[in-house]
Amino acid sequence: MHDWQSFESAYPLLGRSLRMAKHAGRLGHSHLVVSSNAAIRNRFPTLLAQLAVCLDPLPDGAPCGHCETCSLLENGLYPDLFLLAPTSKSRQITIGLSEDEPDTLRNFESMFHLSSSAPGGWKIGVIQDCDTMNENAQNAFLKTLEEPPRNCLFILTTGHPASLLPTIRSRCQILSLTDNVCKYDMETFSAMPDLLMKLTFASKGDLVAGEECAAGLIDILGSLGSMAEATVQARWDERLKAAENLESAAMKLIEKRMDGETGCEYLRLREEFLSILHTWFAQVALVSEGTPLELLPNPEVVRVWLDTDPRPSIPADEAARMLGEAENLVRVLNTNVNDELAVRAFALSVAIDTGVQG
Ligand SMILES: [Zn+2]
Repeated sequence: MHDWQSFESAYPLLGRSLRMAKHAGRLGHSHLVVSSNAAIRNRFPTLLAQLAVCLDPLPDGAPCGHCETCSLLENGLYPDLFLLAPTSKSRQITIGLSEDEPDTLRNFESMFHLSSSAPGGWKIGVIQDCDTMNENAQNAFLKTLEEPPRNCLFILTTGHPASLLPTIRSRCQILSLTDNVCKYDMETFSAMPDLLMKLTFASKGDLVAGEECAAGLIDILGSLGSMAEATVQARWDERLKAAENLESAAMKLIEKRMDGETGCEYLRLREEFLSILHTWFAQVALVSEGTPLELLPNPEVVRVWLDTDPRPSIPADEAARMLGEAENLVRVLNTNVNDELAVRAFALSVAIDTGVQG
């Protein structure tokens, strides 16, 4: 989805209606981009902002992609684009104590009181993964949505629209960019299947083995922050090189964008880690209950198990118990607990010998 045309060929109805709305001067001021795909949540706000502020739109209303504002947006240098994203540390957007506290809603909102310095005069506010705003922050932002400042465009993104206050959802035009195919990127998490295989089938009653699996999983979880940094760094590498001679204010803009993207990328990786772990035990439970292999929704996750000859098995009720433990771990890790303790407790509860014979 590198430009408007490729977006529109993937989402023809939505693309056309946005374009026509812009053409007729009816483009809304607040949009909520809903997609389970983090890459789309990351990319689409730029395209939507280009649609809104392009200085030289095509005859059909589509953004040109080359004019001054389109280029500034593309390169992260549009002076009045303000980005709010969860910080990777707290995984939350809070309201903040004062306007000076960075990465808070108060700080973000204060940007819209200043006059615009962008060509065309539009201010753009992007809140990435806005479901990570706590309730205070959501309530405060609601007031802004109810009486938006002039010439402002707000673009919110979420993969979990149900976590938003209904009043926030109803104040935004919802742009649903759904992506039904859920396949896992097992290359990034290539160490997980072996650990989960060992935990599921070889650690029964062997708490040392359980402990080793826990240590492996904790290692992966602990490396997600630097993985997120590396991904975002690579994404911006070329533009950073091109920006080498820029003044420091411009570099700051880019660094802010990269910070925000790193927070979102970290959350995405963490979600994927938990999802793979959960999916592993869900697939094992399905097979243990007799589901034919060709009907497994995510065979890519359990490939190492499916390809083992002879394939080890566990009784269905034991598989169901493990799945319950995995569900519990996902729930616990979504609150602010110590990751390490939670994963260790989980691995040991899976490894414990419950007396069920395989
Ligand atoms: Zn343009």
